[in-house]
Amino acid sequence: MIFDNKRLQKKSGRNRLARILIILAILLLTVTINSNHKTSNMQMSSIKNLTNLFPKKTAPRTSGQEHKKNRAKSFIYLPSTHRSEQIPARKLEVPKAIPILMYHRINNTATFGNCVERNLTISVQTFTNQLNWFLSNGYHVVSLNEAFDALYLHKPLPIKPIVLTFDDGTADAYYNVYPILKKRGLTGTFFVKVKCVDSGDGLNWGKAVEMTNGGMQIESHTMTHIDLSLASSDELLYELQKSKNLLEKHLRQTVRFLAYPSGSFNDQVIAAAKRCGYSAALTTEPGLCRPGDNPFKLKRIRISRGQDLGSLSSLLNCN
Ligand SMILES: [Zn+2]
Repeated sequence: MIFDNKRLQKKSGRNRLARILIILAILLLTVTINSNHKTSNMQMSSIKNLTNLFPKKTAPRTSGQEHKKNRAKSFIYLPSTHRSEQIPARKLEVPKAIPILMYHRINNTATFGNCVERNLTISVQTFTNQLNWFLSNGYHVVSLNEAFDALYLHKPLPIKPIVLTFDDGTADAYYNVYPILKKRGLTGTFFVKVKCVDSGDGLNWGKAVEMTNGGMQIESHTMTHIDLSLASSDELLYELQKSKNLLEKHLRQTVRFLAYPSGSFNDQVIAAAKRCGYSAALTTEPGLCRPGDNPFKLKRIRISRGQDLGSLSSLLNCN
């Protein structure tokens, strides 16, 4: 019995020791967990402090509504009444130079006309590719009126302005150019040979009116496309004044610009154009237009068949 009692006491003592050890283990575990938690919090706090020292670059204008609001505010320029595919202009300035492009026919058929006419005909796809290139390279298509106001009245324009002009007023203008420009919210100026309106492959007055109502500008390319430098005073009056009057009568818009047929002019032609009330005239002389240039000798960049985008790009940046 004594032996059993001793064994029981010994066993009870071991159990107590085991319980103490378990309690100690639990306490140790709790302390360790708390310690780790504190360390973790401290680490988080330290990371936050470091983040504060090196704050992330915030993008305040990239969040939905605000971005839209700012875009709307910065969209200062619209070339026409239509929504434009152009990148909204964020900066306006009085331009140092403006390229005025001179197109003729935009047509997929290259088999008509003489070799000069064929050389001045580009396909609809080429024209579309050029427009895409202008827009993706930051050019802003402006009207001839806006370009004139910038050149001579110092009105600011979006950076990299460009003017599109189309000579002769064939039906291509209505069928192949107008829909492309209108769809993109762009504008162009069409110089019309007035005697050919309502005849042959020329525009008709209904289409011309529709184009002006759609944001296009239509101006004079004389009555019959004669060499103005060889014309008499009476012929000059007929070519310049009558074409202007007829256009204004049908389109109910002031005609301000003249494009010299084949780029041919002299001092008498300029004097006659001024007397007839034109504000400016466009030549075929290559180059950019700059403030201070003679408004009756505005240069243009001729767009020819086979012209690649590389050469066009260098022409836009020429001096
Ligand atoms: Zn012409």
